[in-house]
Amino acid sequence: MAARRTLVALASSIAVVAAGALASPAAAHPRSPEEKFAQKVTTRAVQDHLAALQRIADENDGNRAALTSGYEASALYVESVLRKAGYETERDPFTFDREIIDTATLTENSPGSAEYEVDQMEFSPNSPVGGVTGDLVAPSDPLGCLATDWSTVVATGKIALISRGACPFATKAANAEAAGAIGVVIYNNVPDVQLFGTLGAEGLTVPVAGVRQADGQALATALAAGPVNVTLDLTSHTETSESFNIIAETEQGRDDNVVMLGAHLDGVEEGPGINDNGTGSAAILEVAVQLAKGNIRHDNTVRFAWWGAEELGLIGSTAYVEELATQEGELDRIATYLNYDMVGSPNYIIGVYDADESTYPAPVEVPEGSVATEAVLTSWFDSIGQPWVDTEFSGRSDYQAFILNGIPASGLFTGADDVKTDEEVALFGGTAGITHDPNYHSAGDDLSNVNETALGIMTQAIAASTYSLAWDTSAINGVSGPGDGYVHPGKGHGPGKHLGSEDRVLLERAS
Ligand SMILES: [Zn+2]
Repeated sequence: MAARRTLVALASSIAVVAAGALASPAAAHPRSPEEKFAQKVTTRAVQDHLAALQRIADENDGNRAALTSGYEASALYVESVLRKAGYETERDPFTFDREIIDTATLTENSPGSAEYEVDQMEFSPNSPVGGVTGDLVAPSDPLGCLATDWSTVVATGKIALISRGACPFATKAANAEAAGAIGVVIYNNVPDVQLFGTLGAEGLTVPVAGVRQADGQALATALAAGPVNVTLDLTSHTETSESFNIIAETEQGRDDNVVMLGAHLDGVEEGPGINDNGTGSAAILEVAVQLAKGNIRHDNTVRFAWWGAEELGLIGSTAYVEELATQEGELDRIATYLNYDMVGSPNYIIGVYDADESTYPAPVEVPEGSVATEAVLTSWFDSIGQPWVDTEFSGRSDYQAFILNGIPASGLFTGADDVKTDEEVALFGGTAGITHDPNYHSAGDDLSNVNETALGIMTQAIAASTYSLAWDTSAINGVSGPGDGYVHPGKGHGPGKHLGSEDRVLLERAS
């Protein structure tokens, strides 16, 4: 219904545009209200927020990771900017368990004295204090998948050295344990990566470690030449930690129809996390500022989230959605969720989460309304002649908890560790054959790692789509208008600014 009314109304404005276009195309083109709003959200202001986050990282051991002073300082920055813009901010706390590694070493006592990097497999017991010490021993078949692989080998009191492959780690470890081994070291069967394994469940009594292929092979070679005495020391414990998300929402807008934007504020410990995800955090921060500053009337509430502990496993956003799910009707209020995680990659693509699966089949169920959410973003790009590509609607960021709970979602992404293709270079420039962000999750993800053009394009898209959805989500959930729950601008904010009716008409075209 809304769309049809829009079409009728649009007919007259087309005539106006066409007449103006004949005289002076550039000057006469009436800017749409979302375009006007987008222009208020400047790349410069977003870069200022990024510079602040970089300073925070510099002053806090070079990172802004969850549970660090750098995260706390980042949160204080976001909160102070929001409060100055007139928002009330809320810290939404959550607790989670994480494994703390105390010791993880494999030391060769003789004939050499090499130290190897090891990982304690999930569900492996700790070693006794000081570790277990013994000679290495290998099964007759290096894979050690059968009990009989140990029948001709004396393993009692020794540490088993086994290759990855053909059967679960738990099977290999259980066979070695049954043969009398007091510890197990399993080496990778692919080069250059540490073996992070899981035993699937508790039950073994001997410590089990993973090592790199090259290290395992070096030990196997040494063992073939003579006895190799090693100490395997694995100790870890589980700790319950608390972190928080920051939530703020517009005073204006009906409470029963909320448009939600989110970006994770935490980074990894390896670096300052400016592209991942200072960019998304800074972009939605400036959108929040300008939305409050202009005091432009809008019918829907816009809620912003800066998620905590995303890098530790989408923990903050998951806790938030699970909490809402326990409160009657809270999830139903959220019309759609837009996720912004990495929007300034140096070797960028302009990517939109592919909710309609036009390029990638989604490995998750896509909630109804996601397609219409994606369309708000893609139609913005189309309207300004900006090329874009689909990125997989995978749920591998903070929108996961939302879509698992049936809330429509989409978002923007400029790429991380995928290699740029020739086709992408044809659309966006940059370099084929290297990743979209060569500094992904590393110390090099600093202020200089952000591509200003990409950041500008994405900032405009975030601003324009937010504005459009703040007015109307009818394409997503059929809801439009101020509703009964509309909150008028409060004391001290002055009256809301009404846009001209022609602006309104052009706005509706986009949705
Ligand atoms: Zn991220």
